[in-house]
Amino acid sequence: MTALKLSNVCKSFGKTEVLRNIDLEVDEGEFVVFVGPSGCGKSTLLRVIAGLEDATEGSVEIGGEMVNQVPPAKRGIAMVFQSYALYPHLTVEGNMALGLKQEGQPRAVIEERVAKASHMLSLEDYLKRRPSELSGGQRQRVAIGRAIVREPKLFLFDEPLSNLDAALRMKTRIEIASLHKALDASMIYVTHDQTEAMTLADKIVVLRDGAVEQIGAPMELYNNPANRFVAGFLGAPS
Ligand code: ADP
Ligand code: MG
Repeated sequence: MTALKLSNVCKSFGKTEVLRNIDLEVDEGEFVVFVGPSGCGKSTLLRVIAGLEDATEGSVEIGGEMVNQVPPAKRGIAMVFQSYALYPHLTVEGNMALGLKQEGQPRAVIEERVAKASHMLSLEDYLKRRPSELSGGQRQRVAIGRAIVREPKLFLFDEPLSNLDAALRMKTRIEIASLHKALDASMIYVTHDQTEAMTLADKIVVLRDGAVEQIGAPMELYNNPANRFVAGFLGAPS
């Protein structure tokens, strides 16, 4: 089954074309990484998939259903941002539970899912703290936990580790890889870190000026980059 299918997706802000004719399929359970220079449209593409922006043209299908008119909360997607975007006045537990409360989930379901996610992310001892009382790495784990509890079929990560130092980035990358194995979900992950792209991806999508430059498995792109631009992103000799 296809988790996500984009057909001819275009997005303009006024006269500025930011996404051009994007075609992409993501299989169920697949881990897809988007790479490309700053400003090439990676975040906008995630936002179009999530429904936070409307495509100007083209269709977005999730799990075989065309979702162009479906609001973000009903798309079965959860997004994790670089900036964590936690609510400062809520505890860790409150931040993780909020989306489920808004969905109208029963209290028992909320408690069970928050307990499970905080166990997976080693956050059990921090549930009563507020974001200001956590380290950057812990905050990002809360943001990931808040996504996990929704039990989405598709996770969208927008440079989730770029605010972390190198050691924590590696640790969290390994955690994300094991979460991907443990969860029955597809993931789309934006990064400009070559190591993250090469180690996490089943498939890498190289974007340039709002268009797909090349798609392939990490070693395919590494060994056969279409051009110097792709080679440059994957650290391959060009
Ligand atoms: P990336 O995530 O790859 O760095 P973005 O998707 O954030 O790129 O941005 C792609 C382009 O779209 C940039 O030129 C940016 O200025 C422009 N852009 C993004 N959001 C908006 C918006 N809401 N209004 C106008 N232009 C935007
Ligand atoms: Mg971005």
